[in-house]
Amino acid sequence: MRKRHNILMDGAEPEGGQWNFDADNREAFGPEGPGQVPPRAMFAPSALTQEVIDLVNTRFANHPGSLSSFAWPVTRAQALEALERFVQERLALFGRFEDALWPGEPWLYHSHLSAALNLKLLSAREVVARVEQAYKDGQAPLQSAEGFIRQILGWREYVRGIYWTQMPGYCELNALNAQEDLPEWFWTGHTDMACLQDAIAQTLQYGYAHHIQRLMVTGLFALLLGVRPQQVHAWYLSVYVDAVEWVELPNTLGMSQYGDGGLMASKPYVATGKYIQRMGGNCSGCRYDPALREGDRACPYTTLYWDFLMRHETALAKNPRMALQVKNLARLSGNERQAVAARAGAIRRGEVGATPQLKSH
Ligand SMILES: Cc1cc2nc3c(=O)[nH]c(=O)nc-3n(C[C@H](O)[C@H](O)[C@H](O)COP(=O)(O)OP(=O)(O)OC[C@H]3O[C@@H](n4cnc5c(N)ncnc54)[C@H](O)[C@@H]3O)c2cc1C
Ligand code: SF4
Repeated sequence: MRKRHNILMDGAEPEGGQWNFDADNREAFGPEGPGQVPPRAMFAPSALTQEVIDLVNTRFANHPGSLSSFAWPVTRAQALEALERFVQERLALFGRFEDALWPGEPWLYHSHLSAALNLKLLSAREVVARVEQAYKDGQAPLQSAEGFIRQILGWREYVRGIYWTQMPGYCELNALNAQEDLPEWFWTGHTDMACLQDAIAQTLQYGYAHHIQRLMVTGLFALLLGVRPQQVHAWYLSVYVDAVEWVELPNTLGMSQYGDGGLMASKPYVATGKYIQRMGGNCSGCRYDPALREGDRACPYTTLYWDFLMRHETALAKNPRMALQVKNLARLSGNERQAVAARAGAIRRGEVGATPQLKSH
């Protein structure tokens, strides 16, 4: 796509001598956190927008989520202003901190442009061109410009292709035969797992979470728990301002839940709580310990990760990209396997993870 559209090219070669700068784009903030992050671009609701907000509040009073912080761009002029604010204030650090997490910091260095793009207030082509220009003008390093452009020209176009070539059957796939229900606290945030509490609370407040929160916090938990992909799909389609089925479904069912058996992603995105610990500050404020897989303080992600490998051991062993992870299972004794399975059962029954209010609900 870069060649075809002549984007970030140096003749026939990629600008900077390589196509992908992901290795530079995995930085976390360190114990002191992100410090001062630029405020998000906010647009006060017009009379018309306010009328719609009031209508939704009246008709859907009992639905999850809140409209009290609604400040999204809803006109072409506002969307262009949001793009410009991103380029001036956030793009330079977008690449470095693309995967980072931090509690209470929903916006970080992301663009928040997905809804404007999906609503066609901005075209993908103009956003890519503006970011390429910012790189040429010395406003952003190549790692940021390349990483950002790849999200749009690469990932967004790829998921569009998956959706339109695979639907309608794609929506029904469930390659891992996952049959659990989505925990009810996904709709309220009533969980004692700090990372999930944070991601769900901001989702209900703003209708926004960045990619790593969607993939490696909410999505990962549902995958490891074994939730039916169709229920996970229904949740993502309901809670995000940018949720349009053609973008949401392949990301959820394919990339995050591996429901298509590997059509979209070459392996399931699975990890223990240690991944979340490495990428941000949630774990230090959590009652669980990401290093533990058994016992009362074991992080549910870590327990469920090993349980996931045990449940799908035979199938995963055939995937060369999973071989190393599956091989590590051999280190677990029979007793350890039993303990993991027992605690995973308790998590599935809602005895671990849900906060007391919800258990009595
Ligand atoms: C389970 C799951 C569900 C998702 N559902 C949606 C959805 O309903 N609608 C949606 O637009 N995106 C969805 N995404 C992709 C991505 O998480 C969001 O586009 C991004 O978080 C939006 O925030 P942003 O605009 O600040 O993005 P930035 O981090 O600033 O990225 C820039 C732009 O790149 C595009 N982009 C980045 N990653 C992807 C991706 N994987 N697929 C498609 N486009 C991408 C978006 O247009 C985004 O605005 C989903 C991802 C996951 C893992
Ligand atoms: S310990 Fe586990 S549940 Fe708690 S914040 Fe870390 S990853 Fe999330």
